[in-house]
Amino acid sequence: MPRYVYRFDEGGKDQKDLLGGKGANLAEMTRLGLPVPPGFTISTDACREFMRTGRVPPSVRVEVTTALRDVEDALGRRLGDPDDPLLVSVRSGAKFSMPGMMDTVLNVGLTDATLPGLAAAAGDERFAWDSYRRLIQMFGTTVLGVDAGRFTAALEAAEAAAGAGTDVDLDTAALRDLVATFRDIVRDATGRDFPRDPREQLDLAIAAVFGSWDTERARLYRRRERIGHDLGTAVNVVAMVFGNLGDDSGTGVAFTRDPATGRPGAYGDYLPDAQGEDVVAGVRNTLTLDDLRERDPASHRALETAMRRLETHYRDLCDIEFTIERGRLWLLQTRVGKRTAAAAFRIAVALVDEGLITTDEALARVSGDQLSALLFGQFDPAAARALLTRGVGASPGAAVGEIALDDDRAVARADAGADVILVRRETTPDDLAGMIAATGILTARGGKTSHAAVVARGMGTCAVVGAEQVEIDTAAGQVRVGDRVLHPGDVISLDGATGEVFDGAVAVVDSPVARYVADGLDAGLDAAGDDAAIAELVRAVHRLLTHADSRRRLRVRANADTADDAARARARGAQGVGLCRTEHQFLGERRRHLERVVLATDDAERTAALDALLPLQRADFAALLEATDGQPTTIRLLDPPLHEFLPDLTDLSVRVALAAERGRPDPHDERLLAAVRRMHETNPMLGLRGVRLGLTVPGLFALQVRAVAEAALALRRAGRDPRPEIMVPLVGSARELHLVRAEVERVLAEVCGPERLDVPVGCMIELPRAALTAARVAGEADFFSFGTNDLTQTTWGFSRDDVEGAFFATYLDNGVLTVSPFETIDADGVGALVRAGVDGGRSVKPGLSCGVCGEHGGDPESIRFFHDVGLDYVSCSPFRVPVARLEAGRAAVLAPGGDADATA
Ligand code: ADP
Ligand code: MG
Ligand code: MG
Repeated sequence: MPRYVYRFDEGGKDQKDLLGGKGANLAEMTRLGLPVPPGFTISTDACREFMRTGRVPPSVRVEVTTALRDVEDALGRRLGDPDDPLLVSVRSGAKFSMPGMMDTVLNVGLTDATLPGLAAAAGDERFAWDSYRRLIQMFGTTVLGVDAGRFTAALEAAEAAAGAGTDVDLDTAALRDLVATFRDIVRDATGRDFPRDPREQLDLAIAAVFGSWDTERARLYRRRERIGHDLGTAVNVVAMVFGNLGDDSGTGVAFTRDPATGRPGAYGDYLPDAQGEDVVAGVRNTLTLDDLRERDPASHRALETAMRRLETHYRDLCDIEFTIERGRLWLLQTRVGKRTAAAAFRIAVALVDEGLITTDEALARVSGDQLSALLFGQFDPAAARALLTRGVGASPGAAVGEIALDDDRAVARADAGADVILVRRETTPDDLAGMIAATGILTARGGKTSHAAVVARGMGTCAVVGAEQVEIDTAAGQVRVGDRVLHPGDVISLDGATGEVFDGAVAVVDSPVARYVADGLDAGLDAAGDDAAIAELVRAVHRLLTHADSRRRLRVRANADTADDAARARARGAQGVGLCRTEHQFLGERRRHLERVVLATDDAERTAALDALLPLQRADFAALLEATDGQPTTIRLLDPPLHEFLPDLTDLSVRVALAAERGRPDPHDERLLAAVRRMHETNPMLGLRGVRLGLTVPGLFALQVRAVAEAALALRRAGRDPRPEIMVPLVGSARELHLVRAEVERVLAEVCGPERLDVPVGCMIELPRAALTAARVAGEADFFSFGTNDLTQTTWGFSRDDVEGAFFATYLDNGVLTVSPFETIDADGVGALVRAGVDGGRSVKPGLSCGVCGEHGGDPESIRFFHDVGLDYVSCSPFRVPVARLEAGRAAVLAPGGDADATA
C-alpha cells in the first residue's frame, strides 16, 4: 500500500516533488531544530491519485488519523476536545509557489463545542470568537465557495456599527454577533450549516485543497508559468499557533536580507495581535523589525538567531513567515526568497565574501536576464512620482511619453518627434505600426504572453500589460484610471520591469551598470556617484562578469555590420565579429549601383557596375577590420534577394503608368519595372538569395571578396593584423560551397600574388539539408556558423514576419509553444539539427570551428544549449555581449560535472 502522509520530522528540503515546497521546507526547519509547530504533509502522490479517481484515497483518512495523534501527543491537546482543543491549519503547497490555488484555512477544529475550551485555555474569550469568525470566513470562502465579499461586507458593517476603526477594536460581544451573521451567510449561500464536526472540517478542507489544483484559475497560471499540470499539490496540516492573543502576540514576514537592494541585515514587517495573512493583506499598518525589538527584545533575538541559522543552512537569502504567541517565536514557512536583479548580484557576491558559497556558485545564482534588466535605463530613484496604477511588467525598460489611443496618432506623433505610449485594451497584429512607433506600450488586458507582451519583448520596447484598472474609451478619446481621466497627449511613465504606471513624466537615468559594461569599472563607479549601494552593485557585476570570463569555454563575438558597431561590441568584451551583414552596406545612395548590376544586359555593363562598387566596399571593410584588429571577423557575402534593393513593385508600376498616361514615359523606370517583374518572387525567403545569387549573378561575390582582400592587404602592409573570414550564406549542398570557394581562392590569389593572405572560407548552416549533410559540406568549409533564425524558419516552415504577429500569441496561450522559437532555440527540433551539423562536420574535420550567429546567440537559455553542443563561440548583438559572456560562464559552471552543478 503506498504511503501518503509524512510527519514534519520525516522529510527534508530536497523532497519538493513529493512534499511540495512548503512541506519540504517545514520538514527541513523541523529537522534543524527550529521552532516549527508540529504537523504533517499529505503528499502530491495523494493529489495525483485524487485527480485520477476524483476522490481522496481512502487510506489517507487512516494515515491522517495516525499523524494527527502524533501531533496531539506532542502538544497534549486533542482535536475536538471541549476542554483544551487542538486547532490546525490546512495549507496547500505545490512544488512551485502558485497563486490561483486554494487559500489556507486557519483555526480548523473550532466549533460551538470547542470554543469555550479554547477561550478558557487561553484565558481570553475575545480571542476565541475572533478565531472562530476567521475560521468561518476562510472556510466559507475557500472550502464552501461562498462569495468572499459577503463576509467582508458583514465585517465592515460590524466595524462601523461598533464605531471601530479596524478588526482589533471589535469587542467580544461584537465578534460573537459577527460569528452568528457569518453562520447565517453560510447557511444562506450553501443551504447547510457550517460543519460542527472538527474532523469533518479537516477532511473537507483537505479535499478542497486537492480540488483546487484543477481549477481554471490554477490551470491558467500553470500554462503561463510553464508548470506541469501533472505535478499535483501537497497539503500541510499544521498545529495552530496564535498571533491574535493580544499585544504580546503577533505575526510577520521577514527576509534575511533586503530582497529589493540586497543590503545585508534582516528586513521585515510585523503586526501585533494579528493572524495569518493580516500582514500582507494590509488590514492595518505594519511595524518594522526594529519596532519589534523595542517591544519584545527576546522574541526579536530568537528571530534573528533563527534567520541566521536558516541563511547559513540554505546558504542564500531566505524569506520566512513567523508568529509570536505570547512572547514565544514560531516559524511557519521559509523558502529561498525571490529578489530583484540588483539584489541577486549583491547578495551572491556578499555570500562569497562571507564564506558561504564559492564564486562559481555565485555565478550560477545570477542570470543573463537579470544582467540585461540592469542595463536598461531606469527611473531616477530620487525623482518624484505619482503611481497611477499597476499591471504586469512584460518587457523591461523605463518609458516616458504621451498617450496615443490608436496607431495613426502614435505614428503621427512619433514622426513629429514625440515619445509616445500606445495605450490599448489589447493589441492585435493590426497595431504593429503603432507598436513600432511607440516608446512604450500599455494594455489593459492580457498577461506576459499576450500579443502586446510578445511583440514588445521582441522589439525591445518597454511594455506593461494587463493593467486592469485602465478603462479605455476610444470613441470619447479618454482613458480612465479610477477617478483620474487622461487624454491623448497627456504624459505617463511606464516601468516595464515592475509593471508600475505613473502619472506624468518621471526622470530617467542611465543605468550605472550600462555605463560599466560600455566604458569600464571606473566609468561605472563614476556613474554610481555617491550612492554606495549602486557602487557596490557595479562592483558585484564586475566581479561576476570577470569570473564568468575566466570560466567560460564559449567565446563571444558580435553581429556587427559597421565599424562603429564592432567598436561598441569590442568595448563590451566581444572577441571578434561573428556576422557582418554586407547587405546593410548597399542601402541608401548605393542602391543605384546595385540597380545597375541588376539591369546590366551584358558582361561589360555588369563589370562596370561592379567596379564602381569596389572602392566603396573596400572602404567599408577597411574600417571594419581596423576596428576588429587582431580579432576574427566573419564577413557574410550578400544574402538577400536582389529585388530587395529595387523599388517596390506597386510603387513602380504606378509611377510608370502615370508617366505613360502623361505621355512622358521614362525608359529607365520601364526597364527597372521589367526587371522587378522578372525577379518578383512569391516567397522570397525561399527564392533566389544567398549562395544561389552568388552562383547566378557573375562577378557579384568576386567583387566582395576582392574588396575584403584588398582592404586586408592594405591594413597588413600598414602593420595591422586584419583577420577576415569569408562566409557563404544559405548553402544547402557541398557542391555550392565548392564552386564559390574556387572563385574565392582565385580572387585571393589574384589580389595577393606572392603575399599570402590567410582567409578562412566557411558557410552558414541555416538549411536542414546543410545540417544533415554536414560531413560532406565540411569537406569544403574551414568553419561553420549556424544561422539559427533561418534554420528555425526553414525547420518549422515559419515565415517569421508573418507568423509572429498572426498566431504566436494563440500558440503560446494554447501551449503549442511555450516560448517563441525565435527567442529561445527549440532544442528538440532546431537544436537537433545544430547538433547533427556540429557532429557531422567534426566527424571529418575534428577541430572544425563552429559558432552561431542567429539572435539566439544572445539568449541565456540558448547559450547554455550551445555550450552543451560544443560550439566554439556565440555571436550576438553588441548590446547583448555582456549578457552572453555571463551566460557562457554560467553554462561552464552549471554543465554536468561543472563546479556549481550541485547547486543548480
Ligand atoms: P500562503 O501560501 O498563501 O503563504 P500559508 O499556508 O503560508 O499560505 O498560510 C497563510 C498564512 O497563515 C501565513 O501567514 C501563515 O504564516 C499563516 N499560518 C499558516 N499556518 C499557521 C498555523 N498553524 N499557525 C499560525 N499561522 C499559520
Ligand atoms: Mg495566501
Ligand atoms: Mg505562506
